[in-house]
Amino acid sequence: MELLNYMEKYKNIDLYSYFSQLTKEDVKRAISSRKPSIIDYLTLLSPIAGDFLEEMAQRAHTISLQNFGKSVLLYTPLYLSNYCVNLCSYCSFHSRNKIKRKKLNMDEIETEAKEISALGLKHILILTGESRKETPVEYIIEAVEVLKKYFDSISIEVYPLKEDEYARLIEVGVDGLTIYQEVYDEKVYNKVHIAGPKKEYSFRLEAPERACRAKIRGVNIGALLGLNDWRKEAFMTGVHADYLQNKYPEVEVSVSLPRIRPHVGMVSNYDVVEDKNLVQIMLATRIFLPRAGITISTRERKELRDNLVGLGVTKMSAGVSTEVGGHSSTEKTESQFDISDTRTVAEMKQMLLSKGYQPILKDWMHI
Ligand code: SF4
Repeated sequence: MELLNYMEKYKNIDLYSYFSQLTKEDVKRAISSRKPSIIDYLTLLSPIAGDFLEEMAQRAHTISLQNFGKSVLLYTPLYLSNYCVNLCSYCSFHSRNKIKRKKLNMDEIETEAKEISALGLKHILILTGESRKETPVEYIIEAVEVLKKYFDSISIEVYPLKEDEYARLIEVGVDGLTIYQEVYDEKVYNKVHIAGPKKEYSFRLEAPERACRAKIRGVNIGALLGLNDWRKEAFMTGVHADYLQNKYPEVEVSVSLPRIRPHVGMVSNYDVVEDKNLVQIMLATRIFLPRAGITISTRERKELRDNLVGLGVTKMSAGVSTEVGGHSSTEKTESQFDISDTRTVAEMKQMLLSKGYQPILKDWMHI
């Protein structure tokens, strides 16, 4: 079934009338289910399941050990450019914000690559704002050619591309795509994406699948938590991830759980997603999608990140800057958002080791 039809089946479920009928027994059944269904997943996101976080944590811990052992992959983002033609209400890079714009040239990219790889990291995630003019596919290809001298794995978080463009990037060495739908609810999506090509909801929604068809190794999807009711957004993220896993079993599907962070030009009327809500989403995701990667970024405080190790998280960013050229340049630009956990790669490694976990810097290679 095509993605849009598949999502359509679930998007109009009245979640709260379903939640109102749930009993504690339903939650317990969903937690212990050997093969949870999408409806079990919804049950695990319910208000009543919020009283079972301890039981969910135990189950999530067991599933994590069975599928990933005691390991967490570390990576860092590298911002190549903050030029953007979109007007997203939640991001400081948006086109009408009067911030200093910058795009790294190839020498600057190489300098950043040297700085980052000296920390031992082998996985990198490159980011740009959405500007086909300033950062066309050719620019990204050139950047990848530079970066692959230093990194074994290169993921991109850029504007949605066409299938043949993903294929070109994969051919030069890109192995992962991160693209957040931001909001699965179309009405809210339309409201927060005020202007620019990002208004095209379906073109963005279908981007991970286009990359899967182009034979990418891994895709990472997610909703920006805080833009809409988190239960609805977490549910549709899980539905999307499940669709991709079933249709493209050869692709490593991951889910990120980013919460909105303070940024330049921030407005304050966001849906609150408390720590315990984030934990519930992560545990429900781990139980529903045992093999999926789960990323918790430095948007979260270090105490919370530390407590999530062992409960489902498989990837964590470290030594993060959300400024263009922020790893090596002394010339400051605006950050995309403020980070919370400012620990270095060495400190993150130490934290994982102290918990008996192995920090992974490289888990596969191009041959
Ligand atoms: S979220 Fe992305 S597309 Fe939107 S303004 Fe920020 S950089 Fe541009």
